[in-house]
Amino acid sequence: MQATLKLARILGITFVLALLSLAAVRGGSEPSTRSAPPIQNRKPLHPLAFCPLPLTSVKPQGWLRRQLEIQANGLSGHLDEFWPDVGPNSGWLGGTGESWERGPYFLDGLVPLAYLLGDPRLIAKAENWVNWTLTHQRPDGGIGPPRNADWWPNMVMLKALTQYQEATGDPRVIPLMERYFHYQAAHLAERPLHEWAKFRWADEVVSVLWLYNRTGDQSLLDLARLLSQQGFNWEAVFADFHFTAKTSPAQLGMRSGVNSELSMSAHGVNNAMALKTPAVRFEVSGADSDKQATDRQLKELYEFHGLANGMFSCEEHLAGRNPSEGTELCSVVETQYSLEQMIAVFGDPTLADRLEKISFNALPGTFSPDMWAHQYLQQPNQVECNLEKRDWNTDGPESNIYGLEPNFGCCTANMHQGWPKFVASLWMATPDQGLAAIAYGPNEVNTVAGKGVPVEIKEETDYPFRGIVRLTMNPSSPTAFPLRLRIPDWAGGATIAVNGEPAGGIRPGEFYTLDHSWKKGDTVVVKFPLQVRVSPGYNNSVVISRGPLLFSLKIGEKWQKITAGMSHPAKPPAADWEVLPFTPWNYGLIIDRANPEGSVAVIEKPVGANPFSPEGAPVELQVKGRRIPTWTLVDGSAGPLPDSPVASDQPVEAVTLIPYGAAKLRITDFPQVAP
Ligand SMILES: [Zn+2]
Repeated sequence: MQATLKLARILGITFVLALLSLAAVRGGSEPSTRSAPPIQNRKPLHPLAFCPLPLTSVKPQGWLRRQLEIQANGLSGHLDEFWPDVGPNSGWLGGTGESWERGPYFLDGLVPLAYLLGDPRLIAKAENWVNWTLTHQRPDGGIGPPRNADWWPNMVMLKALTQYQEATGDPRVIPLMERYFHYQAAHLAERPLHEWAKFRWADEVVSVLWLYNRTGDQSLLDLARLLSQQGFNWEAVFADFHFTAKTSPAQLGMRSGVNSELSMSAHGVNNAMALKTPAVRFEVSGADSDKQATDRQLKELYEFHGLANGMFSCEEHLAGRNPSEGTELCSVVETQYSLEQMIAVFGDPTLADRLEKISFNALPGTFSPDMWAHQYLQQPNQVECNLEKRDWNTDGPESNIYGLEPNFGCCTANMHQGWPKFVASLWMATPDQGLAAIAYGPNEVNTVAGKGVPVEIKEETDYPFRGIVRLTMNPSSPTAFPLRLRIPDWAGGATIAVNGEPAGGIRPGEFYTLDHSWKKGDTVVVKFPLQVRVSPGYNNSVVISRGPLLFSLKIGEKWQKITAGMSHPAKPPAADWEVLPFTPWNYGLIIDRANPEGSVAVIEKPVGANPFSPEGAPVELQVKGRRIPTWTLVDGSAGPLPDSPVASDQPVEAVTLIPYGAAKLRITDFPQVAP
């Protein structure tokens, strides 16, 4: 060991840690260049509509790769170096520190980030965590820190382990999971699911079914049913939905902030995770009622709590449609993950429309451009981020500042999964040996298709900032397979050309199938017309979109470090920031709802190093507006949104809109004013 330490000083500790952890993995942990084939649901499970590809099948390119690199250079790649909750004393590394959800949360995003980038520094970190769990399973099958008796954090660790197994093929993962599930099945009667585990049980079933598809062990299906029986009945909540407006602690039966069963069912992150519940049940049951339960759950949640950014409000609990209400970052990344699971089960393209909307808007909009700071709550109309008691349900005055651990540290640990899992889900396999483009972005996918032929597809695009997607097919030998391309609901007039030949019958809101025999060098060019669209927002306001991007008022942002008043102040190299406006925000827009293109000028700029920053925004919209003097700040937020149309005698001004994700201060639901 002394020689090792000496070597560490010479080579740098990271490199040696990488060597040590590589040596600890008996199966070898280098990601293979050609990914393993996708694994379909095994009978009697209902077949998946689309089969997720093993992690590392999709490699990010272009701006998407740069975005993951920003993340790796930000908090995600450094958090463990200075934040004790995921530091070397974590219970999940054998220490005496945090031993609940934060270590597994961190790993659930670090694993896909590390392997998608193929970044040796991050891979070494991820393996360090994985190895501890893999080498410290107890004789009875239990995993994790011995002093944790809660099933919930283990559920998160299982998600991280399945991704790690897909990336590396490490042969230790599957036996560990088999032993753990047998242990859990034997103990659930005397130690049933409770608290968070009771509401989030569907997340564990995802891992149970993942293992069943690899081993065929029938007792896993019994475990899936037992988890469903002990778990909270979400279907009942949405069959008779009572949360039809902003909830209050009194309504939820919360005494001095303590959770009740009712409050847990109105909790935003629980609801985000629960979206997948009927889909997971459907895999086991195949029952139409589970499909209908999904539709009802989405409808109720978004009808009463939906926001323009594709999310629903929650501050901790459901909070209505006012664009000054907030949405927690954990609920953003968990909704993404639920949608990715639901798309695989049901194959519904509108779920993927929503996934893109959240991934390209709500996700980047709640991070500082360098991803060194995040918010707990983001607002669609967010005109000031500072320490002030806002009208949140139960969340505190730190909730909308950009920082290390504002309000509560769950998001600090959990936020890392958002981008990487989205990238991993861009493509899925179809049941007829084809491939489906679920969402778009620059990437290369390596998988097998047709008659088991290795296939690479290069996707070159600046989507969502531009509307052209070019696919270059590269099967290792000519092979026939269906290529399904999602045509978003907004993409009327989309065109597809195969080797220059136009395809016909393309309809928005569907998957378009190209059934071809593919050979090396074949090209598919998809053109999505990025028309400016107006949709009705809160109080008959106007919400502006172009493709999957939402557009918000560009407000001058003054970023100032917060040096006092935080309950858990950030330590360097992180910092906490308030963001204050230095330009006005109370504009109404002059826009023709029926023909918005006539009132908006589109300015495209290069897609540069940081598209989700105000100065790096690759698209700007110029529109006319007037200020509304009666619309003012109330308790740190934009005051009640006036009902449109709104009268204003103020002069007409040119107004600039940028993508929601680039605007850290913003108006998104605009009043409409007369020309
Ligand atoms: Zn959170």
